[in-house]
Amino acid sequence: MDQPVHDPAEAAPVALPRFLDSPAPGWTSEADVLVVGSGIAGLTCALRLREQVDRVLLVTKTSLSAGSTAWAQGGIAAALAPEDSAREHLDDTLVAGVGLCDEAAVEVLVTEGPARVRELIELGTRFDTDAAGEITLTREGGHHRDRIAHAGGDATGAEISRALIAQLEAVRADPGIEIIENALVVDVLTSAEGVVCGATVHVIGEGEVDGVGAARARAVVLATGGLGQIYSATTNPSVATGDGMAAALRAGAALTDLEFVQFHPTVMHLGTDARGQQPLVSEAVRGEGAILIDATGEAFMADVHPMADLAPRDVVARAILERMEATGTDHVFLDARGLGGDFFARRFPTIAARCRDLGIDPGAEPIPVTPAQHYASGGVRTDLRGRTNLPGLYACGEVSCTGVHGANRLASNSLLEGLVFAHRIAADLTERLAAGDLPQAQPKSEGSAALLDSSHRPRLQQVMTRGVGPIRSAESTLSAVADLAALAGVPKGTAEPGPLSWETSNLLHLGQALATAAHLREESRGGHVRRDHPRHDDEEWAAHLIHVRDEDGELVVIKLEVELSRPDDP
Ligand SMILES: Cc1cc2nc3c(=O)[nH]c(=O)nc-3n(C[C@H](O)[C@H](O)[C@H](O)COP(=O)(O)OP(=O)(O)OC[C@H]3O[C@@H](n4cnc5c(N)ncnc54)[C@H](O)[C@@H]3O)c2cc1C
Repeated sequence: MDQPVHDPAEAAPVALPRFLDSPAPGWTSEADVLVVGSGIAGLTCALRLREQVDRVLLVTKTSLSAGSTAWAQGGIAAALAPEDSAREHLDDTLVAGVGLCDEAAVEVLVTEGPARVRELIELGTRFDTDAAGEITLTREGGHHRDRIAHAGGDATGAEISRALIAQLEAVRADPGIEIIENALVVDVLTSAEGVVCGATVHVIGEGEVDGVGAARARAVVLATGGLGQIYSATTNPSVATGDGMAAALRAGAALTDLEFVQFHPTVMHLGTDARGQQPLVSEAVRGEGAILIDATGEAFMADVHPMADLAPRDVVARAILERMEATGTDHVFLDARGLGGDFFARRFPTIAARCRDLGIDPGAEPIPVTPAQHYASGGVRTDLRGRTNLPGLYACGEVSCTGVHGANRLASNSLLEGLVFAHRIAADLTERLAAGDLPQAQPKSEGSAALLDSSHRPRLQQVMTRGVGPIRSAESTLSAVADLAALAGVPKGTAEPGPLSWETSNLLHLGQALATAAHLREESRGGHVRRDHPRHDDEEWAAHLIHVRDEDGELVVIKLEVELSRPDDP
């Protein structure tokens, strides 16, 4: 049953502007499809569409290789081994998602995944292989089989990104595709009927396309990645400011599962004041045999879960936080000494280099680690074709919520999700555009709202980290809601329109929705613990929280009850 919910503890519903304040468009471009973002999702979608559609415009905020994709270490999950099966991959995914996965979406992911990964290889991605030339597969937390294909040891994302960008560069001169870098999408354009018809884009360029313009299109594919920069410390790069999610929300698209944030258990601990992107120590290090130990040197995961150090991420992150609290420290250690320094350096060259930079020798001493924000399981709600509730708007990759992750993403399923669903969107759009569906609509303009100055960003991140981190309570989430409302009420007029204030305003709008959902969900599930509700509540919380901006500009939260795909994780 769909029921709008409003928590009485909240003073007033969140008001959200339709547009961010930005200069009037000074240029216009036209395409059939506008693809926003150049991670695995955007690149895959643009490359597929270029083969089928007359005019594709790909815009990306900075350079083509920026985004989380190039940072992915561990690999991409797919049932490629003869002894593995899509069914087993599905089972592991459902368990990690703690009942809230959409089983049909997971079915799509695991059955189409292997073919998509083989296509990546045909496109030039070089995964690591054994002496016989077979892809070497490893295991990560929550997987019961070796099914993670990796490249360059721990540089999987960089290799995938390299291969896809090489394909794109090879067709850059093709008149059917235009690529604009340093192009930040500010808002999604809609017609009076609510049909999506392009986006406002700010380009730092030269010549005709410079400053803010209107990129008109019959369909827009958001592939803008995650929102990690909403927290003080994250594994995500600086471009991950949730721009696509926030723009979609302002335009009327439904967002869901925002409260399900994944905190990676093993992020290098660089001190309590560390801010921004932090170095990740991939789960694959534990897959190869490293174990977590506390400050006293005691290994603690075997007593927590049957899969010990390879338990699902939320279980490991929670166990670490509990151990930190019990021992009065702000980190634990990952002991990879058993792997040997030479093996470590060969198998994990990126992590080894980072350790060296920080003066840590993983072959001789344990690596200090602590949980930090890593992945947004929620996002723009889509169906199995990547369509959102707004005609002409699609979303894929981390910006989207296809339903495959439920309350918690299974390790290495996100690159796969971006790949599989980008492919599906390209197929759906090809068919619809050929059928004359989605005619170009006329954008309707509406008043815009003033911006939050970027000087408030550290405060916003601190509010989110304290209030809606991995350990929450009614008190902490409510204080986050109140503090964000205060930030939303900061007298405006001083912030100049520009990338920093647009990003900060996006973080604010998403933070308000996320904190509200975190407050409303009175249970512990997935990546977070509610101290005041330490267990799953399958009676009350077999449900998704959906956020939509209504016609009055207020953020409405709808509770959508569902049947749990897997009532209990073991
Ligand atoms: C350190 C790290 C390690 C990871 N390891 C793994 C792993 O081993 N396996 C796995 O499956 N997943 C992993 N993940 C998660 C995975 O990398 C991401 O979920 C995935 O790459 C997201 O792909 P994407 O294409 O959706 O977004 P991204 O790769 O983040 O790309 C988003 C793109 O959108 C652009 N963009 C953003 N905002 C705008 C805007 N306003 N206008 C225009 N362009 C915009 C960005 O610049 C970027 O090009 C890891 C993530 C991190 C951070």
